[in-house]
Amino acid sequence: MSFPGVHVSIQGGLSTAIDRGMSLDCSAIQIFTHSSRTWAFPTVPDEEVVRFRTEHARSGIGPVLVHASYLINTATADPVLREKSCEALRQDWLLSNSLGVSGLVLHPGSAAGQTGKDAVRRSADLICDVMDRVPHGSTRLLLENTAGGGKTLGRNPEELSALFEEIGSPGRVGLCLDSCHLFAAGYEIRTDDGYDQVMAEFLSAAPGNRPDAWHVNDAMFAIGSGRDRHTHVGKGHIGPRFFWSLFHDARFGACPMILETPKGETDREDRLNLSVVSILAGQKHFDECDPALVSALESLGEPPV
Ligand SMILES: [Zn+2]
Ligand SMILES: [Zn+2]
Repeated sequence: MSFPGVHVSIQGGLSTAIDRGMSLDCSAIQIFTHSSRTWAFPTVPDEEVVRFRTEHARSGIGPVLVHASYLINTATADPVLREKSCEALRQDWLLSNSLGVSGLVLHPGSAAGQTGKDAVRRSADLICDVMDRVPHGSTRLLLENTAGGGKTLGRNPEELSALFEEIGSPGRVGLCLDSCHLFAAGYEIRTDDGYDQVMAEFLSAAPGNRPDAWHVNDAMFAIGSGRDRHTHVGKGHIGPRFFWSLFHDARFGACPMILETPKGETDREDRLNLSVVSILAGQKHFDECDPALVSALESLGEPPV
């Protein structure tokens, strides 16, 4: 695994995210360009874009991802929400290209009130509309698999591959896999057989048969819960073994692996999660009793519900 990373804050300006990533010794980072729960899109001055690119180039950090707003619903049948979603996605994609980042991660949205087929068609249609209005650049749009709650779109390989097929343009879109979402959507990834099967299914759904990024999160709730609640790596219902397999899977060697795990007042939690990641990535054989792993996991607070 080459690119362990963390979702970091941009408080104080976009370029401060690079400093945060450096202070955590990350090889990759992910950011929101603005509050992920508001529609208002900030004006980012050109100097800030230049500062971000300069700092990134100097930092030794590899891939940077932007996570799009959670309010965007590409599958909506409501014309007002569609227009807002289009505009929010367009703005984030333009800014991501300006920042020179490699991926813009998007939860496709909700198929509420529609058949899966209609939702896929609507979602692909909106994404194509936006794509036509955003010049080619460094940033690919990465659709993220979802946790399967409600009618979220993108919970299984069938929906994802239907979306990618309908969108076309394989050069401009890709897949981001989230381990917590896989597990919450009911995929058994803790056993060797389960791991192999689930990976084969999801990889064959992706353009180029590989994901472009991973979100490395454990799950607060049991398998199939449908609940999108992340917890610390190795500490939740997924447990450390899956992550060991993931970090030793050569197919994902070039993927940014971003932690979206719970944070505290300081960066202590991020550091502990990164140390669990590096212990697991360094183990030749999986050993749950590795004293370093045991103590890193013990420092990570309460076990999940
Ligand atoms: Zn995620
Ligand atoms: Zn999530």
